Amino acid sequence: MSAIDIFERSSDPAARSDDKQGPPCRFCGATLRATFVDLGMSPLCESYLTRAQLNRMEPFYPLHVYVCGECFLVQLEAYVSAEHIFSEYAYFSSYSTSWVEHARLYTEQMIDRLCLGAESRVVELASNDGYLLQHFVARGIPSLGVEPAANIADVANRQGVPTLVRFFGEQLARELAAEGKAADLIVANNVLAQVPDLNDFVRGMKILLARRGVVTIEFPHLMRTMQGLQFDQVYHEHFSYFSSTTAERVLAAHGLAVFDVEELPTHGGSLRIFARHAEDTSRPVEESVRELRSREAAEGLTRLDGYSHFAEAVKETKRALLSFLIEAKNAKKTVVGYGAPGKGNTLLNYCGIRSDLLDYTVDRNPYKQGKFLPGTHIPIDHPDRIEETRPDYVLILPWNLKNEIKQQLAFIREWGGQFVLPIPRLAVE
Ligand SMILES: [Zn+2]
Repeated sequence: MSAIDIFERSSDPAARSDDKQGPPCRFCGATLRATFVDLGMSPLCESYLTRAQLNRMEPFYPLHVYVCGECFLVQLEAYVSAEHIFSEYAYFSSYSTSWVEHARLYTEQMIDRLCLGAESRVVELASNDGYLLQHFVARGIPSLGVEPAANIADVANRQGVPTLVRFFGEQLARELAAEGKAADLIVANNVLAQVPDLNDFVRGMKILLARRGVVTIEFPHLMRTMQGLQFDQVYHEHFSYFSSTTAERVLAAHGLAVFDVEELPTHGGSLRIFARHAEDTSRPVEESVRELRSREAAEGLTRLDGYSHFAEAVKETKRALLSFLIEAKNAKKTVVGYGAPGKGNTLLNYCGIRSDLLDYTVDRNPYKQGKFLPGTHIPIDHPDRIEETRPDYVLILPWNLKNEIKQQLAFIREWGGQFVLPIPRLAVE
């Protein structure tokens, strides 16, 4: 959707008569009326700016998250096309050593659990640079990656992981199934949130899955996002936010049944769900599924009013962070940032924090150094700058890596420096 489309809809008389009227639910089609959280207008979180770009116009899009009153899918309207997000996606999974290890352990577990071998087939959707499939390939298990970003798929192909440069959905699933390439294991890690046509994607999984096959899907767990007030997990590239209950419902609508679920520490708390064909009774539904379902119900995730407190709690977090920064500035203290992750951009834009409150931030990624954060225009420097400028406070933006960062920057204690964590509630450590 373009900015023009947004303008046209808001000037439509029907939209004016009910200003809460939102788009249709991505899953069930019901009109979205309930706001989960409205983080205002924000630029795309990965659009880091060069100095020359600071003087140009910058597109901002709404970060208005709805919760569907019918199916409870928490979602953002797709303002950004999937082509835009995926076609030149710059993130190479293999650059993260902990993520590669996470993938290796997963492949070992799945080979044992599903008895995968030379007769099996594994298909990974959004397979990135082959960081995960390489482990199946090394064990002689036929594997196929589907990756829409051509530059990343090239890397995978060169390293011996066969990868198609395509978007996944019903069309591609039919083509693969017709070629006799049904999958015994379909892997979908951190992709479901980014799929604009959710039903088409899940329908494709149903078609591609072998009769006794298994699908595993990983995604950040909405329950943990809510408990930890992790509103900075919201960005334009994440269209949908799932609980186990809504994920189960979406899969069930397409003939897939969840039979096991694991809770993982990745991304501030993620889920790995295991699904099979609804008609395949060879794998009974584990207790883990029922247990998590009832825990989510107890947390209020199966009632619309269970979602209503989040927006207010987020505003409190914003006020606490701003109060701290203003008081620090009044007391002539210096505050700098650590990291330039996508989540940091959501936080800083929502809170209106610019270089008036945060002098600069640093990042280890050389691609980001010398650039500026989108929207807030805070400069990104080399991490050495912290030792040179000896700030009183370091605001940690990738809070999920807090322990690692505190260790790396332990030297700030020498001059009495302290760490600031913005989420769930401001903490100075
Ligand atoms: Zn819905």
